[in-house]
This record gives sequence, C-alpha cells and structure tokens, in this order.
Amino acid sequence: MAKYIFVFGGVMSGVGKGVASASVGKILQARGYRVTALKIDPYVNVDAGTMNPTEHGEVFVTFDGDETDQDVGNYERFLDVDLPRDNYMTTGRIYQSVINRERNLEYGGKCVEVVPHIPEEVIRRLRRATAKARAEITIIEIGGTVGEYQNILFLEAARQMHYEQPDDVLFVLVSYLPVPGTLGEMKTKPTQYAVRQVNEAGIQPDFIICRSTAPLDGPRKKKLSVFCNVDESAVISAPDVETIYQVPLNYEKEHLSDKILKKLKLRSRRQDLREWRTMVQRMLRAKTTVKIGMVGKYFATGAFILPDAYISVIEALRHAAGVHRVKLQIDWLNSDDYEKDRAKVKELGGYHGIIVPGGFGSRGVEGKILAIQYARSHGLPFLGLCYGMQLATIEFARNVCKLSGANTTEIDPKTKHPVIHIMPDQAEKLAKKQYGNTMRLGSWPCLLDRRSRSAKLYGTRRINERHRHRYEFNNAYRERLTKAGFSLAGLSPDGQLVEIIELPQHPFFVGTQFHPELKSRPLHPHPLFLGLVAAAKQRAVGRK
Ligand code: GLN
Repeated sequence: MAKYIFVFGGVMSGVGKGVASASVGKILQARGYRVTALKIDPYVNVDAGTMNPTEHGEVFVTFDGDETDQDVGNYERFLDVDLPRDNYMTTGRIYQSVINRERNLEYGGKCVEVVPHIPEEVIRRLRRATAKARAEITIIEIGGTVGEYQNILFLEAARQMHYEQPDDVLFVLVSYLPVPGTLGEMKTKPTQYAVRQVNEAGIQPDFIICRSTAPLDGPRKKKLSVFCNVDESAVISAPDVETIYQVPLNYEKEHLSDKILKKLKLRSRRQDLREWRTMVQRMLRAKTTVKIGMVGKYFATGAFILPDAYISVIEALRHAAGVHRVKLQIDWLNSDDYEKDRAKVKELGGYHGIIVPGGFGSRGVEGKILAIQYARSHGLPFLGLCYGMQLATIEFARNVCKLSGANTTEIDPKTKHPVIHIMPDQAEKLAKKQYGNTMRLGSWPCLLDRRSRSAKLYGTRRINERHRHRYEFNNAYRERLTKAGFSLAGLSPDGQLVEIIELPQHPFFVGTQFHPELKSRPLHPHPLFLGLVAAAKQRAVGRK
C-alpha cells in the first residue's frame, strides 16, 4: 500500500511550498524509499502553457511534452527523476475528464455532481500516478493557499483519502511566520489562523513547516503546538537559506524523515545524503565570482520584478557554478534598455558571460539582437536558449552575411530573409486556432557533429533534449550561413531540423533550439551550462 503526503500552504503564496515538497520527497528518497511527487494547480487552464508567465512563473516541460508548473521542475531537480504528465493536474484537467466521461455515459445516466465526482477524479489520478511510478510514497503539493476558494475540492480529496486510509495519508502545512520590522519579533498568529482554515476542511496537519527569515525558537514552537494541536516535535523550523538545496539537510537536523516514517508506520532505513551534502558544500564554499547577464524582457508587477519565469535557467547556472566552484552573480538585463539607448549595450563588457533565454513575440527582440552582436564580436561567452538561438541566427545573417532585414516570421511575416520560419505543421495548427499544448514539445533526439564543442561537452553524439517552440531554422539559408562560419552543430537524426548552432572561432558561442535548462540537476549539471560557466570563469580569472 502506497503512502500519500499532502503539502499545502498557509498565510501566503511564494514561501517555498514547492521546495518544501521536493525536500520532503528528497529526505524520504534518501531513506531508500521510492518517491514520486505531483503538483495540483488550482487554475482552470488545462495546462500551464496558456498561463501568464508573469503571474504563474516558468512553464516547465516534461519529457512527454506536458506544459506544467515550475514546481514539477523542483521535484525533478531534487529527486533526480523524469516525471511524466500524470504528475501534474489542474482544475481544468479534472473537469475536462469528468465532463468527457459524462458525455460518454460512463456515469451510467446518474447525476454527475461536483462532490463526490470531482474529488473522486482527483483521487483516481493520484493513484494512477503513484502506480505508474511504482512509488512507495507520493508527495502531493496543492497549489494556492488554504482558505482560498479555488483549492477546496483538492483539500476535500485529501480529506476523503485520509478518512479511508488514515495510516497511509499525512498532512503537512507549509506556513509563514513574519518578523515585522517594527516589532522585531516573530509572529505565530497568521499560522494559527491557517491551521483553523484547514481544520474547517476537516484536515488536521501532522506537521507544520515554519518558513521565516530566522529559525523558530522554543517558545514559538510551544505556542504553535498548543494552539494548533500538533506535537512540538512536529513543528519544523525552516529559515531562509543561501541555496535551496540546503533545505533537505536542514529538515534532517530536525529528524523530519524519522518522524514522518514513524507516523506513516514505515520501517526506518539507513539514510544516505552524502552526495547531496557534498554538492551543497561545494556550492557554499565557492570563491571566484562570475557575473552572468540574463538578457531578457522582464515584467514588473507594480514595483517588483519577478524572475520566476526563468527559474530553471537560474538553477541550471547554479548547478554548473557548484561544479566549477564559482560564486554566481546573475543580473537581470532588460533588453528594452538597449533599444532605447544602443550605447548601453557596452555594459555587457562588465560581464563574464550572457544568456539570452527563451521567449515569444516582438518586445525587446532588437535589444536582444544587439546584445548577441556584442557577445559575438567581443568574445563574450554566450548561450542562447530557444528564442536566444533563433535571434543569434538572425544576428549572424544580418551582420555577417549581410542579409539585411533578416528576421523570424514570428515578428516579420513578410521579411525578405526569413532565416527563422514557422514549422509547416505548426502553421496548420495556428490557422485552426489550436493553441493549447500544440507546440513542438517534450523530448526529441538530436545528433551532434563529432567536431563540435557541444559533442565534446556532452561526451556523446546522441542526445535527447526538451523543446517548446513553433519556429525553426530555415534550411534554405544553411549554405549561406555555414559558408560564413556559422556551424550547425546538432541536427535532428533525419538531418532536417537545426537543433544547435555554434561559432567555432569564438571562446563560447552556443545556441540551442531546445531548453537544456529543463534537464539540469544539482547532482547532474547540464553539459552546456558547465561549458558556459567554464568559459565565463576563464574570462573572470583571466581579467584579474
Ligand atoms: N518564440 C519562439 C518559437 O516559438 C521561441 C520559443 C521559445 O523560446 N520557447 O519558436
């Protein structure tokens, strides 16, 4: 019988519920249990592909082509596993299958009701994902915050499961304890209210993970224990950390895996976090600082900028930095600024490497192209991801091959030189207005040129990488570009699709049609990010 751990959030969003869920999974996996993790997103969207990245953060693509929440990326990074589309669900997805089933008369002509049929579908999916992963323990993160209208049906599913098998289901509340500057004291009251909110849903948390700027002290543990009806030992301190990969180690300082195993009546097995600990120590001990500029378009919500849209890129950089023992400084460089003032692109001289990440549409594109031109002509290490690769192609076509006005048809459908154009099957889908989950998605094989930098970094010729795009390199321009020194370092096995471009004469200039960041793991950093950080480090050290 598999065990289920539900994780939900109290007080406010954005306190690291995803990292908490992934870390709980990690410490149990380190005890020798087969663990899988699953995210429930309360949105009505069927997947994250159609959600606003500013509000929702990055779209994480699974190997089997699901467009999911960034937390699925956290689970993959912490558990070091590839998760399938079964491990993500939204309100929209649940209703869609219930309605389809109703249309097929699968409810035998009965009235189909929100309760019990919606929670039943949730439970069916939880069990299916667990069975597919052959998991002994499944972590389920319920998005949003308790007390919200949106996630009530998911809490109801959790309550029902607990009612049916109380020994196999456990509840973890991740809460936030503010330390208001004016008081200088950590406050527990919002957490007490959050517990009351879940109590209303018929759920009593077994553990409370207390996120805060500082560690939780004795008096507050006692208070939460008494007011929230949990053991003092079940109140877990979770202060801010330098790297998120410290979180599982911090939980183990409070013996959390022991406590969970005991509650779930699971056998205690030997713990192995050695490799993980070494990785974290390497990250924390780095000395040389490497400055990486992320040239993107950033959306401010009011006075705040949210870099969540690039979370996997940031993590992939951190993994590589750990291996090369460098401290990372990542700066958000707004490509709009270079459009307004072309001279501003010179600020890139202060960086050791730049990344132009993925994106859509025309805003900021000319600024990104200016940044790429600077990187190409100044030997500045460059990694272009998806749109970044496409824009590097445009830059080379315009400025080296003198194909003036070269562009992608995404921006200029009438361009004289469509060096990037839409894939034929994609044009059909757009004509039919089929937008949802129809891009080129998920894992695709790629064959590397034996002599390429990429082949050296990967240490193999055959790779698989994850995609999310509609446009591609236009083969009509292959000859003109390669003659001028542009190298097509990776192609689809049939030779038709350009997947990686390189400039062999440059210290490091690589663009990928896929998203390598999605496959980087702290214990297995991605070869291309290792390559970029190595080149950036060389530039940093060389300058001293
Ligand atoms: N907009 C480009 C395309 O659709 C690139 C997409 C991306 O960067 N993910 O092909």
